Amino acid sequence: MSKKVLIIGAGGVGNVVAKKCAMNPDTFSDILLASRTKTKCDKIAADAAALGLPTEIKTASINADHVAELVALIRDYQPFMVINVALPYQDLPIMDACLATGVHYLDTANYEPKDIAKFEYSWQWAYQDRYEKAGLMALLGSGFDPGVTQVYTAYAAKHHFREMHYLDIIDCNAGDHGKAFATNFNPEINIREITQPGKYWENGQWIEIEAMSQHKPIEYPGIGPKESYVLYHEELESLVKHFPTLKRARFWMTFGQQYITHLQVLQNVGMTSIQPIKFQGQDIIPLEFLKAVLPEPGDLGENYTGETSIGCQIKGIGKDGGELTYYVWNNCQHQDAWREVQAQGVSYTTGVPAMIGAKLMCDGTWLKPGVWNCEQLDPDPYMALLNQHGLPWNERLGIPLPHEYPD
Ligand code: NDP
Repeated sequence: MSKKVLIIGAGGVGNVVAKKCAMNPDTFSDILLASRTKTKCDKIAADAAALGLPTEIKTASINADHVAELVALIRDYQPFMVINVALPYQDLPIMDACLATGVHYLDTANYEPKDIAKFEYSWQWAYQDRYEKAGLMALLGSGFDPGVTQVYTAYAAKHHFREMHYLDIIDCNAGDHGKAFATNFNPEINIREITQPGKYWENGQWIEIEAMSQHKPIEYPGIGPKESYVLYHEELESLVKHFPTLKRARFWMTFGQQYITHLQVLQNVGMTSIQPIKFQGQDIIPLEFLKAVLPEPGDLGENYTGETSIGCQIKGIGKDGGELTYYVWNNCQHQDAWREVQAQGVSYTTGVPAMIGAKLMCDGTWLKPGVWNCEQLDPDPYMALLNQHGLPWNERLGIPLPHEYPD
């Protein structure tokens, strides 16, 4: 039986999730899209209606920092689950409201407190017992990375490896949005992520490095070599916990020279700081002000050309006992995303997996009380849905990987 869902957050990702859910009436019978700025929800709903999508999108205004407001909205609408695609700061209030009202929860990014640029799963994993006792499920990080990258890794473990030793997640955006400087998802969250120290897992411990200090060209399928930088990314924390045979796990992301130059200047002049400063008698946070002057991620799509390529490269012992190398990835064209749901590729590659995670919860395939990361559930149904809903994947086995192991 198809279910009612409440989607919170009407940015670049919210636009994709709402439209993708509206295209799947067999799973999602009713959709309420709520965000702080209701006019953004109304625009998405009007676009979806103009596209003739089968399920109508209703809209509401919500400040998801406030549990009482969330509880009132959830009680009134009575959804089966909440899909949280607002910002990581709202994860805990929304998880609390779901517990208070007895509805399931999904998000695409792990919690981080507003006043420290630090993200880790401890805050959300701490809800495990309460969700389990309440018979509720929280699916954490069902975007692309986190999300699909963990499903890819779980798929590799299930079908190809006896033991995985080296994992490199490689994320390339070879697109061009034509702006001098813009971020592909929420600028505040994006800049906090990449200006903090890099970190990777090696031989049972985290190795911390200066931000953007390790880089090299990596070859991406259909794109060619692109300079890629080691970053700390949240799925590394859960992957090394759930796949303890990993000797090393790293995350690489591409950045163009123009992006890096702008970021360095912004850092040098203090615009990326999250410490409040006084401005005309008011406390303002430079990074929040910077976000206000940068383009919205949801507005980059129309003239975006090029493609993204995100995948996992793994080396270890194959099922037959011999050494095995494996690469699984998706390429997504920005223009295809625009044609289908008027979004750029980064919002698309996040929003489609959020819809898929919700679909597997709504139809009961993945529904299981407790707090889960994507690699803890059966990857097969998720992998099948990726092929059906716009993010087809490719795999290569037993060949020299474009990205060599070890270095
Ligand atoms: P946007 O900035 O485009 O959108 C965020 C939306 O959340 C806006 O509509 C904003 O409303 C709303 N919002 C912010 N604060 C609140 C609040 N207190 N109450 C209600 N709504 C609020 O970001 P994106 O759509 O690009 O990103 C959405 C999420 O997806 C982020 O958490 C991001 O980290 C995550 N993400 C995950 C990826 C993955 O692969 N796993 C990749 C990319 C993004 P308003 O306009 O009023 O501020």
